[in-house]
Amino acid sequence: MIKTRFAPSPTGYLHVGGLRTALYSYLVARQTGGKFLLRIEDTDRERFVADGTANILKSLYWAGLIPDEGVTQDEQGAIIQTGDKGPYIQSERLEIYRKYVDELIDKGYAYYCFCSPEKLEEMRMIQQKNKLPTGYDGCCRKIDCTEAKKRALNGESCVIRMNMPKDGETVFNDEIRGEIRIKNELIDDQVILKSDGFPTYHLAVVVDDYLMGITHIIRGEEWLSSVPKHLKLYEYFGWEAPKMAHLPLLLNADKSKLSKRQGDVAVEDYIKKGYLPEAILNFVAFLGWNPGDEREIFSLEDLIKEFSLDKVGKAGSVFNLEKLDWFNQQYLRKLPVEDLTERAKPFFKQAGVELKVEDKQLAKIISLERERVITLAELPEAVKFVFALPNYESTLPVWKKSDANEAKNILSELKEMLYNFSEHQWNIENLETTIGEWIKEKGYQNGNVLWPLRVSLSGQQNSPGPYEIADVLGKEESIRRIETAINKF
Ligand code: GLU
Repeated sequence: MIKTRFAPSPTGYLHVGGLRTALYSYLVARQTGGKFLLRIEDTDRERFVADGTANILKSLYWAGLIPDEGVTQDEQGAIIQTGDKGPYIQSERLEIYRKYVDELIDKGYAYYCFCSPEKLEEMRMIQQKNKLPTGYDGCCRKIDCTEAKKRALNGESCVIRMNMPKDGETVFNDEIRGEIRIKNELIDDQVILKSDGFPTYHLAVVVDDYLMGITHIIRGEEWLSSVPKHLKLYEYFGWEAPKMAHLPLLLNADKSKLSKRQGDVAVEDYIKKGYLPEAILNFVAFLGWNPGDEREIFSLEDLIKEFSLDKVGKAGSVFNLEKLDWFNQQYLRKLPVEDLTERAKPFFKQAGVELKVEDKQLAKIISLERERVITLAELPEAVKFVFALPNYESTLPVWKKSDANEAKNILSELKEMLYNFSEHQWNIENLETTIGEWIKEKGYQNGNVLWPLRVSLSGQQNSPGPYEIADVLGKEESIRRIETAINKF
């Protein structure tokens, strides 16, 4: 059975790149009936953020990428752990790591290192001065193991390093990049256990991926250079390594590595701005993958069917916000209106708008603007004119080929005519046919009637069409707004 994992560090929020890693991992598991696991890698205590895990889970659940195993949420949204390979939070697994570190020491694959930070810094400076590659020079390898253990037991501060052979090269296959070769001399004797008793990422990731039965590791390109160390650890333990796929970098528009300085990178920022999970997932799926043809709209279900790692490219992909906007608009147009209305409500609240209308009416109001906005957060502002007529200049309702007098006369005649509508006749179709015929009968030009009508109903230069607005406002309010316009002239 295929088992993938997403293994974020709780350093604050879910990065869009992390969402892509999670999505691809989720897809690979789902398309084969496998499992998707979530593990929290919190061994770097300096970068630990208290709400980090909760934030990551919130964003993942929002996107619908629900883990089958590992760190999950219960129905109330509390963090829980599910599965028989736990704990799934690395800081709760320290004893497990210690056992494996001891095994490596006993087999001679790892050693105590007593070098102080000052000594390491000095080593680095000398290497730099002599234009040598920087890295640990291996001097503590020479210390006799029994002696070293004694020193450690006596409380001398130390770390444990793995023995990394310096000759030859590591050759492995990456599911996306094919064969990769890295010279072993470039690889340090990596610290695997820190002086605070916490393992480093490198040891913990290998031990956990193995013990948790992970078959496919999917993660960002930045981890590619660590693979030789990991493979060495698998070899030392006598374990078979999982398959690995390293995803291309995400880039800013100027092709530099995607950074906070050039825009939002946290999924929660996009949630707050009113992007739909469907759009974000579709967009993120295309950062590195495409189906090989022209199709662009893919639901999560479609992606499960069609995604494959062999169609993921090696080249970095540009994080193009215009494309994201386009996806969001596509989904805003497609969503059933009741669903759209439910999803829009929190954004009215966020904008401080108290909704005093029923859902059905709100749905109608939202329908006026759903094709014109890019995000849900833009809706309250876009439909504000329905709730309160904006103040506008008396010249605004005058069509460019007309004058104030004519506009006033036409609006007055139109008002008289509209009085004759009964409430139940007041709908888009009737308004459109009746007003259309009336314009013809009178021999007016369309613009001469529809411009002043639309502006008087919306109070805005740009707005949806007059029939749609009139329908939403109802007879009484529409006529009141026409009167307001007439009185302005
Ligand atoms: N904890 C690592 C991160 O934050 C995970 C890397 C991996 O997937 O192996 O990116």
